[in-house]
Amino acid sequence: MKKLALHWQILLGMAAGVIFALIMTNFSWGAEFINDWIKPFGNIFINALKLIAVPLILASLIKGISDLKDISKLSKMGTRTILIYIGTTLIAVSIGLVLVNLIEPGNAIAEDTRNDLIASYEGDANMRIADAQRQKDAGPLQALEDIVPGNIFAAASDNGNMLQVIFFAIFFGLGLILIPEETARPVKAFFDGFNEVILKLIDLIMLAAPYGVFALLAALVVESPSTDLFAALAMYGVTVLAGLALMIGVYILIVWVTTGRDPAFFENGIAPAQLLAFSTSSSAATLPVTMERTEEHLGVHEEVTSFVLPIGATINMDGTSLYQAVAAVFIAQAFGMDLTIGAQLGIIATATLASIGSAAVPGAGMVMLVIVLSQAGIPEAGLALIFAVDRPLDMCRTMVNVTGDAAVSMMVAKSVDKLGDPHERKWDENLPKKEKVH
Ligand code: ASP
Repeated sequence: MKKLALHWQILLGMAAGVIFALIMTNFSWGAEFINDWIKPFGNIFINALKLIAVPLILASLIKGISDLKDISKLSKMGTRTILIYIGTTLIAVSIGLVLVNLIEPGNAIAEDTRNDLIASYEGDANMRIADAQRQKDAGPLQALEDIVPGNIFAAASDNGNMLQVIFFAIFFGLGLILIPEETARPVKAFFDGFNEVILKLIDLIMLAAPYGVFALLAALVVESPSTDLFAALAMYGVTVLAGLALMIGVYILIVWVTTGRDPAFFENGIAPAQLLAFSTSSSAATLPVTMERTEEHLGVHEEVTSFVLPIGATINMDGTSLYQAVAAVFIAQAFGMDLTIGAQLGIIATATLASIGSAAVPGAGMVMLVIVLSQAGIPEAGLALIFAVDRPLDMCRTMVNVTGDAAVSMMVAKSVDKLGDPHERKWDENLPKKEKVH
C-alpha cells in the first residue's frame, strides 16, 4: 500500500489533536489530562528538533562553505541572500500596511471592549514591554557586537544565539578553504559524515511528527482563551491572515517566475515544514526540516541551503514584519490616533529592522513590536489589546517566515546555478542514497 505523504500524515495528526482536545474539554478532568499526559510528548518533539538545530548549523554550514572552494562565491551568494531577504521583508510590511489601512480593523473595536482587553492583559503586556526595554537600552552597534561570540561553547549552548553559531561556522569554513587541501581533507570528511548523521536524525524525528503535532495542538486547544475574545478581535485577525495568505501567494509567484518551478511543486516540497512551523510557532525548531525539504524536495544544493536557511531563520521574518505593521496601525486605530504618512513610512523601516531582530521562537515578534510602537509614538499598553489572539497568529506568521526562507533559497540557488532536480539528487551523486522516511 502506498504510504500517505508526510504532509497529509502531519495534517491528520493536527486534526486528530484538535478533535481529541475538543472532546476532552467536555470532561472536568480533560484539560488536566492533556496537560499531564499529552502535552509532554509535544514538548519532547520540539526539544528533539531544537536539539539538532545547533549541530545541524555547524555541520552543514562548515561543509557548505568549504564546498564553495573560493571566497568570491561566498560573497556573491551572501550579498544576494541579504538583498533578497530585505526585498521580501519590505514587500511583506507594505502588504500589511495597505491592508490595515483599507480594512481599518481598529475602528471596529468598541471602547468598552478595548478597556476590557487592556485590563485583562495588562500584566502579560507589561512583561513583554520590559523584555523589549532591555533590548532598547542597548547601544546602536550592540546587534553587531553580539554576532561575534567570545566563546563558541557558550554560544552553542544557547539556541537563542544562532547568529553567533552561524558566524563561527562561516569563519571556520573560510579557514578550511584557505588551508592546503591536503590538510583540510580529514576535517572536511569529518563534517561531511557528521552532517549525514544529523540528516538521518531529522528523518528519525520526522517519523514522530504526526504524533508530536497531535500533542502540540491538543495542548493549545485546551489552553486557548474564550471564543468571545476571538470574536472581538476578528477583524484584526482577518487582516493579518489575509496579509499572510497574500504573502504566501507572492512567494509562489516569485518562485514560479524566477525559477520556473510551479506552485504545486513548491507547495508539495515545503508543506511539511509549513505545518511544523504552524504547530511549533518557531522557525528555529523548524529549521532542520526546512533544510531537509528544501534540499531533498525543492532541489536546492546544500551549499546554498546551509548558508541561506540558518541565516533566514534568524533574520528573515516576513510574516512577523507584516504582523508588526498591521498590529501597530491596528492599535493606533483602536486608540483613535491618526497616523501620518511619515509615521507609516517609519513603521516600514522599524518593522523591517524589528523582524530582523526577533528571535525565531514563539512570541518573539510581539516583544519587538513594542519597539515599533514606541518609535511610532503609539501607546505600548496597546499590546494588551492583541494579546489574546497572538498565539494563533504567531503560528500562521511562523509558517510564512519559513516559507519565505525556502522561497529565497530557491531564488538564490537559481541565481548561482545551484538549483537541481530533487529526485535525481544531481548535486550529491557521490553520496550514498538516503532511505526516505516517506
Ligand atoms: N514565532 C516566530 C518565528 O519563530 C517569531 C514571531 O513572530 O514571534 O518565526
